[in-house]
Amino acid sequence: MPDKTLIKISNLYVEYHTNKGILGGKSTIHAVNGVSLDIYKGEILAIAGESGCGKSTLAKALTQLEPVKSGEIFFNGQNILTLDKKKSKKFHQTVQMVFQNPYTSLNPKMKICDILKEPLEINTDYTPEKIYGIVKKKISLVGLDESCLELYPHEFSGGQRQRIAIARALMLEPDFIIADEPVSALDVSIQAQIINLIKELNEKYGITFLLITHDISVIKYLADRVAIMYLGEIAESGKTEDIFATPLHPYTKALLSSAPDINKTDKKVVLKGDLPSPADLPDGCKFHTRCPYVMEKCKTCIPHERGGSHKVRCFLYE
Ligand code: SF4
Repeated sequence: MPDKTLIKISNLYVEYHTNKGILGGKSTIHAVNGVSLDIYKGEILAIAGESGCGKSTLAKALTQLEPVKSGEIFFNGQNILTLDKKKSKKFHQTVQMVFQNPYTSLNPKMKICDILKEPLEINTDYTPEKIYGIVKKKISLVGLDESCLELYPHEFSGGQRQRIAIARALMLEPDFIIADEPVSALDVSIQAQIINLIKELNEKYGITFLLITHDISVIKYLADRVAIMYLGEIAESGKTEDIFATPLHPYTKALLSSAPDINKTDKKVVLKGDLPSPADLPDGCKFHTRCPYVMEKCKTCIPHERGGSHKVRCFLYE
């Protein structure tokens, strides 16, 4: 494994079972289907795709919030799926998550000070003075004043609450933060503040970010690399500038053309139909039911990922 790889995901499958409703029985949701992906130290990797494409499930599998059916996830060279209790605890301190909705991710009954102290009280034997010192440092790091520590979450705006959620994620000095749609629940006017805060934490402190988002403009501004997900597979991945300059996969082209300020001169690609259900995956290429370039073999044969730093899964490039 190259030195610069922080996380190596190898042939990962995640599925879960749901009730079929009045018909009875269970259906299997194939949320992540054979994902292999490296995340490099100090980068911001964005995962993009429609809702239901499996990007949030993949993120949860990385933090062990979602059980994995098969495959491997290496973090700093160690398989996190086989860690003993002690190493697993250490791993969970190193990896933190920031959720989409800052209105629900903070306990409304706790003061901000207590919300921030909690991870250190649970995971360290630091003195109360040392913990309070770290709380003050982290709240100032996210651009808030110490006076807010005695207040409750409802006394803050959405943007301020997301800053507090980020401060909480920083309490245990993580190497890696997963930000799941970190600005989509915020007013457009304050989204830029949170985006800039993520950029600053990445550039100044070298924190690696996995950014889950469907917002193409956020990806273009923040991400070093992008992975485009479709029905639980990575359709295309590469450096952000390469993906935006020369998108290869028909789905990537459609996704980028849907953004209002990108590829203005290009014709908008409108896909037919909806995303198929992950409970009933199409045969062959998973995109064939909506692809404008579909060929006969796409309906029965599975394309494999090809390429070096810019990878694509499509028969047009085989
Ligand atoms: Fe379209 Fe075929 Fe490529 Fe799939 S493999 S994206 S159906 S051209």
